[in-house]
Amino acid sequence: MSFETLGLASEILRAVAEQGYREPTPIQRQAIPVVLAGRDLMASAQTGTGKTAGFTLPLLQRLSQQQPPSKGRRPVRALILSPTRELAAQIGENVLAYSQYLPLRSLVVFGGVSINPQMMKLRGGVDILVATPGRLLDLAQQNAVDLSKVEILVLDEADRMLDMGFIHDIRRVIAKLPVKRQNLLFSATFSDEIKQLANKLLHDPASVEVARRNTASEQVTQHVHLVDKKRKRELLSQMIGVGNWQQVLVFTRTKHGANHLAEQLNKDGISAAAIHGNKSQGARTRALADFKAGSIRVLVATDIAARGLDIDQLPHVVNFELPNVPEDYVHRIGRTGRAECTGEALSLVCVDEHKLLRDIERLLQKQIPRIALPGYEPDPSIKAEPIINGRQRVNTTERSRKNRAQPAQQPHSTGKPRRTNSQRQNKA
Ligand code: AMP
Repeated sequence: MSFETLGLASEILRAVAEQGYREPTPIQRQAIPVVLAGRDLMASAQTGTGKTAGFTLPLLQRLSQQQPPSKGRRPVRALILSPTRELAAQIGENVLAYSQYLPLRSLVVFGGVSINPQMMKLRGGVDILVATPGRLLDLAQQNAVDLSKVEILVLDEADRMLDMGFIHDIRRVIAKLPVKRQNLLFSATFSDEIKQLANKLLHDPASVEVARRNTASEQVTQHVHLVDKKRKRELLSQMIGVGNWQQVLVFTRTKHGANHLAEQLNKDGISAAAIHGNKSQGARTRALADFKAGSIRVLVATDIAARGLDIDQLPHVVNFELPNVPEDYVHRIGRTGRAECTGEALSLVCVDEHKLLRDIERLLQKQIPRIALPGYEPDPSIKAEPIINGRQRVNTTERSRKNRAQPAQQPHSTGKPRRTNSQRQNKA
């Protein structure tokens, strides 16, 4: 099947061809006709499946078929909500690329940067607005944006939005929209909470589903290297050097861990930068641009900062530390093996993390093959230490300062680790 047979306008086909897309991905094949027909949509698809074009292309077509009001400033007719700034920025880039031959204006707004330029641009009139919920509400409160003419609402990564505690913000945004509109909901997972939201939001939705690419994860070669915690950095540097890896995304559990590792890699002569929630938006954007351009080899990230990152043909993902939540492993390795490419995911696992590894393998329903670089065998005399709220015990003083409210305990002894909203947000 080609994009032509989906009935998209020639301006859109031209933009798609310039992106180098030869044929629609499964989610695009299923979602585009539904959206073009004006129906509500509930789509189960992860980042990496081509879902952004799946909703953007037909949305552009629908907007361009209807003339905006000739008088007054252009009203926002399509609103795309995203949980994170990075994802919003990426959606915005895609919207811009796909709409380049159409007379439509788009804008991305998110927090962490000055609100005034966003207000100025909105004043000029915008057809498509990509936004994170908090900043959108700030803008609405200051009467800088009118949402009463929205025809199409897209909730992207709805599961993450709920995980990050955005449900009230989403409800407040929805209350500002006209009742009659088209709604598109994208989510990687469908918990009861998401189903409840979908029931309230969607009218007679078409349901489309594409295989979670990373539970199958055929395109990602996965390996585990068992190694002592204090030798992980050395092993990582060696693997990057020996393999001559030029673009590596490395995950740590904590912001501090990300900073520390990036510093150490730079000292080893491997150019690296860290991204996480404590970094300014400017620093995050710069690090990502440098990484994409190839001027830094290693990007060290926490889970939430990396969520939805779209890096074309990223060949290597390294779990410097395993995530506390097994599903995050799947999200992490989903950064590689995107579209048609293959990728490699390597996890450096120390004795403290064996329980986490078992949880991940249970979720994947398979064992991840072990590899070993000689000279890095774990020392059997080292005993496991607990991981508390993602942090490894550094020393007694630090632990007692940080976890005074939380007595040291085996956090995983009560079954599946759980994470609260505030922990998730702190973590990024
Ligand atoms: P997404 O799931 O929207 O984040 O898209 C993942 C990646 O796939 C992005 O880099 C897109 O540019 C790319 N992509 C989207 N649609 C196609 C397509 N039909 N063919 C090849 N690559 C695509």
